This record gives sequence, C-alpha cells and structure tokens, in this order.
Amino acid sequence: MMRRRMSRPISIGDVTVGGGAPVVVQSMAKTDTRNARATIDQIRQLEQCGCQLVRVAIPDGEAAEANPIIKRGVTIPLIADIHFDYRLALLALKGGVDGLRLNPGNIADHEQIREVVLAAKEREIPIRIGVNAGSLPPPENQEQTIVERMVSAALAQIKLFESLNFELIKVSLKAFDVPDTIAANRALAERMPYPIHLGITEAGTPRGGAIRSAVGIGILLHEGIGDTIRVSLTGDPTEEVSAGYEILKSLDLSQRGPTLISCPSCGRAEVDIIGLANAVEERLVKLEKTIKVAVMGCVVNGPGEVRDADVGIACGKGKGVIFRKGEKVRTVKETDFLKALMAEVEREV
Ligand code: SF4
Repeated sequence: MMRRRMSRPISIGDVTVGGGAPVVVQSMAKTDTRNARATIDQIRQLEQCGCQLVRVAIPDGEAAEANPIIKRGVTIPLIADIHFDYRLALLALKGGVDGLRLNPGNIADHEQIREVVLAAKEREIPIRIGVNAGSLPPPENQEQTIVERMVSAALAQIKLFESLNFELIKVSLKAFDVPDTIAANRALAERMPYPIHLGITEAGTPRGGAIRSAVGIGILLHEGIGDTIRVSLTGDPTEEVSAGYEILKSLDLSQRGPTLISCPSCGRAEVDIIGLANAVEERLVKLEKTIKVAVMGCVVNGPGEVRDADVGIACGKGKGVIFRKGEKVRTVKETDFLKALMAEVEREV
C-alpha cells in the first residue's frame, strides 16, 4: 500500500491540493490568452476531459485584462502564470484569479515579491513557487549542482513568503532531466511541509513526452510525493489531461474514466486486434464513467483478462465472445466485434 506524504492543504478555488486529497490533474491553456473567446473554448474542452485546474500565461497587460473575462466563462479554477513583471501578478489578483504561479528565477526583487505576496494574502489566494531548471537564480557557489540550485531557490522563496506570514504555498521543481527532477523533489519533500506540484518540463511531443513524464511523475507519486500533476506536452492540452489520468490510474490514485485493457497481439491472433483496440479507444475517450474494457486477441490470456473487466471481448478465428462482469453474454461474428462490444459498453454506462 502506497503511503502519501502528508502536506499542508491549500484551496485553489474549490479544489483542495495536498493534505491527502486526491492528486489533482492540471493543464495549461495554449491559446493566445489575450483572446478570451479562444481561451475560454479551450479551457471548456479541458474541463470536459477532467482537467481540474488550468493555468493561463499572462504575458502582458492585455492578457491580464482578458483574464477576468476568461474567469467568468469557465468553471474550473484559474491560475495566472507570471514571469518577469510583478505588476501583472497584481493585475491578475485584482482580476479575480484563483491562484498565482511565480518563478523565483525571473522576479528577483524582494520588494516586488513582497507586494505580490501581501496582495495575495489579502485575498487568500495561493501562490505556486514554480522553479524551473532552465531559469534558475544564479548559483550560490561554483560547486552547486542543478538539483541543489533548484531546491535552494525554492527554499529561499519559501523563507521570504513565510517571513510575510504567508503560507498558502505550493511548490514545483521541474527539469527536462528526469533523474534531476526526482532527486530535487525528494530533497524538497523532506524539507518543507507544503504541497508539491509535479511535472517534467519541456518533456516533448505526446509520444515521447508522455512516457518521460510518466517515468518522472510516476516514480515520485509511487514514493508518496506529489499533490498535483501536469504532463507538459507539445500538443493538444487535452492529451496532457488524459496522460495525467493514465499515470494516476496506473498507480491506483484515480479511477476516473475508462481503462482499456488490450493485448499487444502476436502470431496467435487471428483477427486485427490492433485495429479493433484503436477503434475502441477512440470511442472510449469520450466517456467519463469509470469502466474497464478488455480487447483480447485469443484464448491464451483472453478469457482470463476479459473476466476481470466490466466489459470485454475475447476474439477467435472469425468470431469472438463478449463478456460482461465475467459472464459470457454472447458470441458475435468478426464484422460485428466493434458494434457489439460498444453496445455492451453503452449498456454498462
Ligand atoms: Fe497473443 Fe493471444 Fe496474448 Fe493477444 S492474448 S498477445 S493474441 S497470446
């Protein structure tokens, strides 16, 4: 049984992060955030696929002005991502965001940070201290490793926030390098009580990036570290959300949505199991309900795996057996595999 690190909970809008709450899946809008309409549309798509928190970049005053309009158009909490200009953080707070993300590597002036923290404190808005290996404050000495620099950047910022009696803190330490990200987060988790947001930064396209993220995020989650996650992918943000849930489901940290169990196919298969599994997956993506669906290619593992699923098909030459909750429902011919299986899924949901 996995034991999770008990962090100090915070609320971002109506979403609890930390304190043993379920791990929260977040993503980031990829639209021009000065365009409220396009950003609202994208966030709504993210909401539909289970995204629980969304971050929006605030690169300039125009984006800060669009932010309250975006906020009114969506239901999930909005986190403003601020770099370089602390005045944009103040504008975002005035505009009603639910959370802020500040990067200690690129707002260095303590007076400016102080102003933002006090404005957040007044409104009880949490701030993520988002450290990124690519934009770290200067090293304290020549021997400091990247991992040490990441941890010390976060701890220094935490100290500053705490000196202002501000504890609505969440911290992230992200790098492209997976071992560095793991080492940094392990060290951080032992040295402060706040919730941790996990991610592998600039991880890549959905193919490689999802795997890279799954390895880094998955190892840390399995050690009990991490209260919220984002899978950063060069692609449609809804893919980030589905990859996030796949990571959580594979560790039994979430049950949301369908799970497809499918055999890889091999020389024993006498039907196009790859085509069938892909067609089933395409249809399952649209479901919200928790359901396990199995697509198996032959009698070797087929009936056994299918019995553990809510609905499944064990295929044989020219025909397949549909199962529901371990019971044989009927035998169908190959041309009806997809239709018959999906009809059974429909019945189940
Ligand atoms: Fe091969 Fe059958 Fe296993 Fe699928 S279930 S991989 S077809 S042995």
